[in-house]
Amino acid sequence: MAEQLDTFTAAERQPIAQLREIMQVRKRGEEPLAFVHTYGCQQNVADSEKIKGMLAQMGFSFTETPEDADFILFNTCAVREHAEDRVFGNVGALKNIKRHHPSVIIALCGCMMEQEHVAQRIHDSYPFVNLLFGTHQIRNFPQLLFTCITDSRRVFARGGEEQDRKISEDLPTRRDGKFKAWLTVMYGCDNFCSYCIVPYVRGRERSRAPEAVLAEFEELVQQGYKDITLLGQNVNSYGKKPDRGTNFAQLLRRLDEVPGDYRIRFMTSHPKDCTHELLDVMAGGKHIAHHLHLPFQSGNDRILKEMNRHYDRAAYLELIHYAKHVMPDLSLTSDVIVGFPGETYEEFRDTVSLIEEVGFTSLFTFIYSPREGTRAAKMPDPVPAEEKSRWFQELCAAQEQIAAKRCACAVGTVQRVLVEEQNPKTGLLTGRTGGNIIVDFSGDASLCGTFQMVQITAARNWILTGELCG
Ligand code: SF4
Repeated sequence: MAEQLDTFTAAERQPIAQLREIMQVRKRGEEPLAFVHTYGCQQNVADSEKIKGMLAQMGFSFTETPEDADFILFNTCAVREHAEDRVFGNVGALKNIKRHHPSVIIALCGCMMEQEHVAQRIHDSYPFVNLLFGTHQIRNFPQLLFTCITDSRRVFARGGEEQDRKISEDLPTRRDGKFKAWLTVMYGCDNFCSYCIVPYVRGRERSRAPEAVLAEFEELVQQGYKDITLLGQNVNSYGKKPDRGTNFAQLLRRLDEVPGDYRIRFMTSHPKDCTHELLDVMAGGKHIAHHLHLPFQSGNDRILKEMNRHYDRAAYLELIHYAKHVMPDLSLTSDVIVGFPGETYEEFRDTVSLIEEVGFTSLFTFIYSPREGTRAAKMPDPVPAEEKSRWFQELCAAQEQIAAKRCACAVGTVQRVLVEEQNPKTGLLTGRTGGNIIVDFSGDASLCGTFQMVQITAARNWILTGELCG
């Protein structure tokens, strides 16, 4: 496959400068304001940070109040039906803002907008939306906005040919966090899990060059970021497409060698590509958090096959046992789907027994949501929603007990905690352990953004309390 690495060109940057001038004239020298709302996963958060970076270069400041904004953007998520319904509801509510403030530009982007039927519905039923662009068009955002404003017309830009879906390097980025940063290492997914829309809306796998990842990582460490999460739909298959000559374990080892005071995390991992080599690198790393988010989705082999997950229960548990063996302090988290089409109660109970066997710190649990265009959406799904809801409650109750037990085990230990903020109500500092567990403790606000050793004194469900070590 041809090299897809591509930097943001001078021609692509050109509209940024032009838009800066246009907005200055429009606002008569006042600062234009942008409201950007992000739905969904961390990849969407990382994409929004790039769009905000471009907006900042256009002269925009940011507001939390859409009524005050000159530019409103929703970066949307297609993973669940409920989230899509919420987006349509929230977009509908923008009609009023447009009525009172006709010059506001309303834009929609993200995974949801890559779907033909969604773009069509927005086009036909939401005439006040000025700009719509998909996940592959982020680098073209300045040109699209420029066209929208200067031609005074609606602009819709989605998809593009797979071979033209380049990796966009050097896009300006305005990071939301002061201590925590997202770093995308690969885009897209080739797995086609039968329930998932991601490969259709984010395209095939594309890994960034290791040198580009390393350069961005070093910059983040130099800028003082303390908690850096490597992102990708399936980070464990990093380096396969195009062939980077470096797999994810090797990339992680290279990053871990960068000197500094920081912690590395990564997500999301797919069990079929999770190797002992990766777990060994985690165990031996200086900066790698002993936290593994490894979605298992179901504990039943028939359902895993129907989901097209390419591993079975035994293979998943083997990985977990090895990971715990090399990292006894490992914190495990996962995603799980309840009520996949055709799942029986007995098959669902295999999921409960798996969570009991593993002992996850926390779980992201979802009731199956059909996504148009996926294989699972066409499967017979006889179990009523109320029944699935009961299973969901049963799973959550089991996990609550497991999480409480896991947290209780931390009492008496000393944890290295990244202090994130001071709670304005309680005055307590809040931080996270390497295992991503929240810890509350007394201390001075000046400690925010530093690592502190904290003696854990109590556990309340999934939150720990502690005392700063002298
Ligand atoms: S691995 Fe499966 S669930 Fe994850 S993004 Fe790819 S297709 Fe979707």
